[in-house]
Amino acid sequence: EKIQPELQFAQNYVNEVFEIVKKRNANENEFLQAVKEVFDSLVPVLAKDPIYIKHNILERIVEPERIISFRVPWVDDNGTVQVNRGFRVQFNSAIGPYKGGIRFHPSVNASIVKFLGFEQIFKNSLTGQPIGGGKGGSDFDPKGKSDGEIMRFTQSFMTELSKYIGPDTDVPAGDIGVGAKEIGYMFGQYKKIRGSFQAGVLTGKGLSYGGSLARKEATGYGTVYFVEEMLKETNLSFNGRTVVVSGSGNVSIYAIEKAQQLGAKVIACSDSSGYIYDENGINLETVKRLKEVEKKRINEYVNEHPHAKYVEGCTGIWSLPCDIALPCATQNEIDEVSAKMLVANGVKAVGEGANMPSTLEAIEVFHANNVLFGPAKAVNAGGVAVSALEMAQNSMRLSWSFEEVDAKLQEIMKDIYLNSKTAAADYELDGNLVAGANIAGFKKVADAMIDQGV
Ligand code: GLU
Repeated sequence: EKIQPELQFAQNYVNEVFEIVKKRNANENEFLQAVKEVFDSLVPVLAKDPIYIKHNILERIVEPERIISFRVPWVDDNGTVQVNRGFRVQFNSAIGPYKGGIRFHPSVNASIVKFLGFEQIFKNSLTGQPIGGGKGGSDFDPKGKSDGEIMRFTQSFMTELSKYIGPDTDVPAGDIGVGAKEIGYMFGQYKKIRGSFQAGVLTGKGLSYGGSLARKEATGYGTVYFVEEMLKETNLSFNGRTVVVSGSGNVSIYAIEKAQQLGAKVIACSDSSGYIYDENGINLETVKRLKEVEKKRINEYVNEHPHAKYVEGCTGIWSLPCDIALPCATQNEIDEVSAKMLVANGVKAVGEGANMPSTLEAIEVFHANNVLFGPAKAVNAGGVAVSALEMAQNSMRLSWSFEEVDAKLQEIMKDIYLNSKTAAADYELDGNLVAGANIAGFKKVADAMIDQGV
């Protein structure tokens, strides 16, 4: 079959820009992976609308508007001075102030924050809200640190970050290792430095100082709302289905909660050391107490539920037979081998609650085997969507009820599903939600960039 000249031209442009990206970001594997996935999706768009090539949007969109990298010194409980690295990537502000979480985890480096910031551009665009893309973090490891250490580190992090953020500039939130407690310390420090109470500078805040109801639940609930939409296409639903959810942090806990509310049986969840398998269905109260209150490891679950099993290691969880898999832990947690295992065991749908949890090879396996696949940018956008609702409430100096925010979240997730599905169909990529989400997210940002000039 002869390739249309327009497609060939677009493919050549994409290849050329990708070579530049590789040269400029050598060895940043996670970032290059995220860029490759988006670029592959965009070839038919560039072929149909060469204006994006004329304006060289791809080479522009992969270069962050700004990367801030800084020293974070702090004093540990022994009186020893420690140093960590801090980052904030202000990636794209075409459609709104930079928006995205902050991750505290030893794996954080320039590649990780850049891939997360890049994904955030398209995710935030998909929410339909006026928010640009950004991300930050530190290689600080909160595991095993005292509350005092976490507070001093977080304050030091904000002392530097405060110079670059603001309610109309850049609005950070939480991510792995950063929850309401850390956001509280950051908010307090920002307020002290600026000498003014600017509620909209951070989201994920405590309810008594400008936080939004349903923000805590939003990413997990949104993940399940999206997958429920996806399942409807084939007359399936969560009701009566067996579900595996990796992770046991904020996203996982509320994905489990909503899946259970919809009648699913969630048989497993995990942390970075291993997974628990409970054939009766996970007792969420136990997981919540262990993880949210006592900050313990997930293996402790079996002490209270002796019929359950604990298995060490991160990938074993994908060998459990299930109808629906929700990877909600971290990037690249499902590789080709794990994907094949899920398919062999009859998985019907995969929804990415974490950011980029599937490798490019794993996604190919799911697509090749007609597994319903919901990509992270679309599936986990509920968290940042409710962050934008938190910003809106802060601007209006009022707060909505849980039901009101939850209803808005459900609408937003439905719209994201519909827009991704439609965008894929527009380019004869029916059912490919990876392409659909990338295309729908891209177009809005690219059009804004063109409108605003070089
Ligand atoms: N860290 C979340 C994400 O990956 C939420 C970001 C936010 O609320 O700004 O989208």
